[in-house]
Amino acid sequence: MTTTEQDLQWLERWKSQLAAGAGPASVFAFQQNLIKSQALPSSATAKMRTQQIFQLVSHCIANVPLYRDYTKFGTPAELARDAKLWAGLPILKRSALQSQSQNLQAKSLPKGHKPVALLRSSGSTGSPVELMATNITATWQKAFALRALIWFRRDFDQSLAVIRKFSRSTTLLPEGETSTHWADYEGIPFHTGKRFALEATKGRISDHLDCLHRRRPAYLMTLPSVLRELVVLSAQNANDWTPKGISTLAETVDDDLRGAVKERWNIEINDTYSAEECGVIAIQCPSHGNYHIQTDSVLVEIVDDAGKPCIPGQEGAVVITTLSNFATPLIRYAIGDRAIAGKTCGCGRNQPILTRILGRERNLLVAKDGKYWPSFGMRSFRDEVPVLSQQFRQTALDRLEMSYVSSEELTIDQEDLLRAHLQKALPADMTIKLIRVDELPRHESGKAEMFISEFEN
Ligand SMILES: [Zn+2]
Repeated sequence: MTTTEQDLQWLERWKSQLAAGAGPASVFAFQQNLIKSQALPSSATAKMRTQQIFQLVSHCIANVPLYRDYTKFGTPAELARDAKLWAGLPILKRSALQSQSQNLQAKSLPKGHKPVALLRSSGSTGSPVELMATNITATWQKAFALRALIWFRRDFDQSLAVIRKFSRSTTLLPEGETSTHWADYEGIPFHTGKRFALEATKGRISDHLDCLHRRRPAYLMTLPSVLRELVVLSAQNANDWTPKGISTLAETVDDDLRGAVKERWNIEINDTYSAEECGVIAIQCPSHGNYHIQTDSVLVEIVDDAGKPCIPGQEGAVVITTLSNFATPLIRYAIGDRAIAGKTCGCGRNQPILTRILGRERNLLVAKDGKYWPSFGMRSFRDEVPVLSQQFRQTALDRLEMSYVSSEELTIDQEDLLRAHLQKALPADMTIKLIRVDELPRHESGKAEMFISEFEN
């Protein structure tokens, strides 16, 4: 049986629990078709993408001021068909989205597209970017979320705990908010087990862990930065709660975190690569680890510093085009992430892949001779120095600050050991300042970056 047939079979398993009404039935049928499309030959999907790009560009030129003069690069049909012409289109930076926000809003929408919500991408610095979500983009987001759960082989009869930022912050600690369903029926069309929602921006990680220990959910869905602290705290706790599956979203998962989760609970993290500006970009392959680009709704290019397409295996900047958002369409938008381009996955699902998501450009350490992904291997070092969690900030070319949470004050010897350990991972000599804090700062979006460079990247 092929992987797509297995995916389909997993979906069909829950058909007997389908909620009543035409809505759930159509969500189910939509998902069936989406999964079946994974097995289409690449020539068929390429044809569909060409058609989508044609529709998007035609709409943008006619209705979106920012793209009105894109006719100088080619007609919509030429741009949709000719990769070279497409690669000649300008790459939009986040600053353009901030300064040209009004010019990005479509003056009118095609029939059937309705604005439903204003998305505010707060980012971690600078002014927010505002984008309009539509009924169409919302449908795709829900379909991708369900597709990920099918790929990850989630048993929908079990319980799920979600720790993240909720738009409605009514969730109170320590018990969280319990629902009888994992998501609304437009998202998951069949009956499921319970869901416990915990607000990531409220309370301490130890409160969240206590709640997980009491509720004992089968699955956990959360931000990597929350998980990073949870797994360390959990290892120090005698409670034997073991999740059957963990999925992450909204931030980058590094090898250290994957290793820690594997060591603690003997499971692999199932990650979804998404961004506030465009929703789901790619879903991690549960068998091969690659990230399958969700080409039904987003076009992803990986480009080098000169803006040229990267070859498979090469690292570059992630540039996205949203194919279903006609209200605030993004054409060739540099989202600020770095990833490694891939080709196809061995699992048989036909979407193109990224082999790795490396993270935000501002999470790179800046050195005299270039930029580096910092990796301090704190997990292996924890036995020597009692640091529970940490966050790094590069404040100058030769200065690094580490804020850390620890149950005890470090001795001078431990501080020296820690500085020497960090220095080994740095490309040049740096002055390292250690700052003990009660809790690591978390952004209003719920996110917390492990490494931030304050240099302009
Ligand atoms: Zn795969």
